[in-house]
This record gives sequence, structure tokens and C-alpha cells, in this order.
Amino acid sequence: MTNQEAITSLKMLKLFTGYDAKSQITLTLHISIDMAIEALEKATPKKPTFSDNNYQCSSCGWEYLDDITLQKHCEHCGQCLKWEE
Ligand SMILES: [Zn+2]
Repeated sequence: MTNQEAITSLKMLKLFTGYDAKSQITLTLHISIDMAIEALEKATPKKPTFSDNNYQCSSCGWEYLDDITLQKHCEHCGQCLKWEE
């Protein structure tokens, strides 16, 4: 299973469990699902964007990514980086 497939499954699980603001169990489950989705998205490599002579993190916009060492993660948000296709 890929990260994207897991994200899709978690989003479906969230829909199936519905949302009841009065239910602490549902609220806790939804917060947990959101945290898992965010962690999976950060672990899925994203290509940096290039503008103003800097490589920027495509998740948070941090603009000091090092294209010489091809750093593996954004030091600001933890996003996994993909430098080549
Ligand atoms: Zn970032």
C-alpha cells in the first residue's frame, strides 16, 4: 500500500465514522486520523519549488533548502523532499 492509498483510506474512515461534536470518542478518532494523514503527507517526498533564486519547500514555503547537499527533509516542517523525478 502506498502512502497516498493509506491517506485515501483514512479519509474514507473519517467519512464513515461521521462527525458528532458531542462524542469525545469520535472527536479523538478524527484528531488521530488527521494526525496520521499529516504524518503520511510529510513522509511522501515532494519536489521543492524554485523561485527568487531559492528552492522552497512546497508544503510550508520555507525558502532556504540546500540544493547542493540535496537535503532529505525540510528543516522547518519536516516535509520529505524529492529532488529528482
Ligand atoms: Zn517545509
